[in-house]
Amino acid sequence: MRRTKIVATIGPTSREPETLVRMVHAGLDVARLNFSHGNRETHAENAERIRAAAASAGRPVAILQDLPGPKIRIGPVQNDIVEFKPGERLMLVCGSEEMGNEQRVSVSWGGLAAAVDPDDVIYLADGAIRLRVRAVDESCDEIETVVEIGGPVASRQGLNIPGSTRGVESVPEEDLEMLRFGESIGVDVVALSFVRTAADVTKLRTSTRLPLIAKVEKPQAVHAAEEIIRAADCVMVARGDLGIELPIEDVPMVQKRLLRIAGRLARPSITATQMLDSMVASPRPTRAEVADVANAIIDGTDAVMLSAETAIGAYPVESVAMMAAIAERTEQELPYRDWNEDRVRRDARDPAYTVAYSACAAARELHLAALVVPTLSGRSARLLSAHRPQVPIYALSPGRETVRRCNLMWGVQAASMRRHEITEALIADAAQRVVELGWVEPGARVGITAGLPSGRPGTTSLVQIQRV
Ligand code: PEP
Repeated sequence: MRRTKIVATIGPTSREPETLVRMVHAGLDVARLNFSHGNRETHAENAERIRAAAASAGRPVAILQDLPGPKIRIGPVQNDIVEFKPGERLMLVCGSEEMGNEQRVSVSWGGLAAAVDPDDVIYLADGAIRLRVRAVDESCDEIETVVEIGGPVASRQGLNIPGSTRGVESVPEEDLEMLRFGESIGVDVVALSFVRTAADVTKLRTSTRLPLIAKVEKPQAVHAAEEIIRAADCVMVARGDLGIELPIEDVPMVQKRLLRIAGRLARPSITATQMLDSMVASPRPTRAEVADVANAIIDGTDAVMLSAETAIGAYPVESVAMMAAIAERTEQELPYRDWNEDRVRRDARDPAYTVAYSACAAARELHLAALVVPTLSGRSARLLSAHRPQVPIYALSPGRETVRRCNLMWGVQAASMRRHEITEALIADAAQRVVELGWVEPGARVGITAGLPSGRPGTTSLVQIQRV
């Protein structure tokens, strides 16, 4: 059983029902709907198709709604692509949707002229193109720039002003509307882009009960990482924008730091962007990309993510299969014992941490076949997962949402079970259920965690070792 989870972005080259079924069979755990692109109708249809593919493959798949956040974009450009030449003058027209060309391009956000100063740097096309501000005319919302590094730019691509947040709203009203729409189509988890403070996360929490993923991609978020990760349910190392907002050479060490904090706080993590980028056009990745996926797993990531590879790439199924193969191989040699001892900062006020730690130690010392965790909210499964046992974690929950949410947690496979009020009945049913599901051989010895009073979230207080 593979432990590392695979997130894949669904787009034009992966949304056909048959392709989705093949992706689920290849190992897709979480399907990402990127609300920076596409329209609502397509996202709703994609959500339906993902659920149908999961049902036909017989595996749960969670749906992740990725909100754009305060992302600044350029407007449409002629023929959908223009080429900017180094040394040429380029005017940015803010708060406009006018059709762009080689000399003038519109920008979605009207506040941009007030947010930059002469000599500031502006990046386009994921950092590939660099502009330098020459002059700002706030009276007509125009910015005069010179192209320092040129190249092609497509309609509506992102625009970054590294570090600058002057006048940028943290959670735009459009995000809240999209979130309501996401809830209406049954997404399981929501990602918030360009988070800067923990308050950005807590603000969104007042609007939804869905689990929240904080995408760390701004320098401010890197500085406030600990508080942000604590406030969120999961963290994404969003290396695309991170590599524009920070010097690109900072990204690997920031990744390691964020994943270390996520481990300490027992929060699941996702490492994202360009992991198998060459597979957009080629059926084989580069050696460096294979090493990148493996290294993120060695850094302790719960999930690895595919973006363009599956959204617009020619090999969506192969990309998922390749990630699964890299994960399975890498997982043979991870520092499980060290992780079990040191990865999580256990909370002395909450026995659930110690139970999770002890269950993992028992699995190792007693050579248990698996750890079985009945869980209402998914919390006990998350704490077990964070301790990285070498054996599979089988989560059982009466909540269908909890079953799907477990798909982001390293090493956890989840299924439904009946709700119980009596601990003995819960344990007996859990033991029977993992055999019924074909997950554990009859007679094998497992550890089953449970809580008193049962049926209440956050009460896990015992681990029972028994044969099933
Ligand atoms: C990223 O920047 O790495 C990222 C995952 O965000 P997006 O794809 O939304 O730009």
